[in-house]
Amino acid sequence: MGGIRERINTACREAGRDPGEVKLLLATKTVPPERIRVALQAGETLIAENKVQELREKYEALKDVLHTNHFIGHLQTNKIKDLLRYDVSCLQSLDRWELAEKLHQRLQSENKTLDVLIQVNTSGEESKFGAAPDQVIPLVKQVAQLETLKIKGLMTIGLFSADIEKVRPCFRLLKDIQQQITALKIPGVEMRELSMGMSGDLETAIAEGATIVRVGTAIFGQRATPDSYYWNENAR
Ligand SMILES: *Cc1c(COP(=O)(O)O)cnc(C)c1O
Repeated sequence: MGGIRERINTACREAGRDPGEVKLLLATKTVPPERIRVALQAGETLIAENKVQELREKYEALKDVLHTNHFIGHLQTNKIKDLLRYDVSCLQSLDRWELAEKLHQRLQSENKTLDVLIQVNTSGEESKFGAAPDQVIPLVKQVAQLETLKIKGLMTIGLFSADIEKVRPCFRLLKDIQQQITALKIPGVEMRELSMGMSGDLETAIAEGATIVRVGTAIFGQRATPDSYYWNENAR
């Protein structure tokens, strides 16, 4: 954990940013609850799963350690009811109207609200989820009409490339969309959060304005399950 904090601090210093502006989110897919617990006891507070099933499996084991849960995976509408059982405070992967509508119905009936980030597909890769860049503003305007969903910003997964200069435009695009939306001053819409950057590209994301970096591998080590299982539409 120290290593990651060090990387974040260095990246902030180089970007002339205050490290207090950048939250570290632990991406805990495939990580057993005992290991997550160790990280939480070491002082981390923000964790996120990609699948409702894993959230459910780990929920009881982590209930007694103070922390915040976000959700960063592709959410099927038939899992909404289940997701809302596990104290998720922010859904970072809202990417389509159908999901927003169904969430709203369920939240209304439970008398709850939910913070959301709009996930944007900035890389154009078909295997990644997220609204197409030109669909984001219309989607934000629509979602803003639903009083149970509180838009707090945007999220993206950058291009998978060892060449960081191919990843950077993804982050720039997210920042650009954020600025466009901010300028529209849509009632009820906040654009403070930019969730971007992972183990391999968090420095670049911080340089481009990230307020949340989502880190898995660099903290917990390599995962046995390939990410395509989590990221691909055709995966289960
Ligand atoms: C797994 C995952 C991460 C973390 O990826 P690492 O490369 O392991 O740091 C971040 N965001 C999402 C949406 C993920 O699924």
